[in-house]
Amino acid sequence: MSEFSIGVDLGGTNLRTAVIDSNGQMLDKLAGTTDLTEGPERVVDDIVHGIETLRDKYSTHRMTGVGIGVPGFIRMAEGYIVGSHNLPVLNHYPIRDAIEKRLETPVILENDANAAALGEKWIGAGRDVDDLVLLTLGTGIGGGIVYKGRVMHGAVGMAGELGHITVVPNGNPCGCGNRGCLEKHASATAIESMANLMALGENLTSKQVHDLALAGEERAIRIFQSMGEALGIGIATLVNTFNFPLYLMSGGALAAWDFFYPTLEAEVRARSFTYRNAETRIGKALLGSEAGLFGAAYLPFQAQSVTRS
Ligand SMILES: [Zn+2]
Repeated sequence: MSEFSIGVDLGGTNLRTAVIDSNGQMLDKLAGTTDLTEGPERVVDDIVHGIETLRDKYSTHRMTGVGIGVPGFIRMAEGYIVGSHNLPVLNHYPIRDAIEKRLETPVILENDANAAALGEKWIGAGRDVDDLVLLTLGTGIGGGIVYKGRVMHGAVGMAGELGHITVVPNGNPCGCGNRGCLEKHASATAIESMANLMALGENLTSKQVHDLALAGEERAIRIFQSMGEALGIGIATLVNTFNFPLYLMSGGALAAWDFFYPTLEAEVRARSFTYRNAETRIGKALLGSEAGLFGAAYLPFQAQSVTRS
């Protein structure tokens, strides 16, 4: 190993830190929890502590930098998060600069789904393409757009919020202010809400709804078809917008792929001329919950290659 960088995945519950070399090998990983009870300084302390522990352990090698994936809308230039439901104490807090100052090393902040999309491009299901879209199906739906090998940021860093594109004109209300957002109709949370509305059982998890579908329960199967329809409408719009070769999905809901994918594919086919006339793959991401760590660690390598070229 000649050099390494550190990828951090900061979630509302978990804080993970990994050492990854420039070939995409993960050499070490720390898994901890995010403590939001004592304010932003405590979160910064915990992040810095994890990074320092690993940096010291690999001190004979050069550290290129640090990338941090965070949930929420990001202001890239200012280096902070706005509108994060998972990390409310960090909204508008200058987290990038605070960490940079403590470590005296460059820190790059990135939206977690953007980081995951970049990780899949680097060493995952998108290795062989330059352009892809990733949808992370979890309690919400995150989105990341990679164009010509780099995360597409838009004007301030808020591009790729694909969980909030409208798929049902007067659909379920969303915390973002819109109605009918993709994540209100196709996330794990949406599956659980539909199961509740259909009185399938007492507060079933999305996995339990999947188990019912496997057992042949018609209403559970319809829930996944509804999810596939919402995803298909969203992905058709993305195919029409980008004409990229690859659209990936990740998250626990992939287990139910065989139940939602046929409806999804039929919707995309019906709604997208581009899909019917251009080679387009819709598939599963490969790196699971580690995609964000790889993508975050890749950011400093990418920044370095720009400076050198
Ligand atoms: Zn929304």
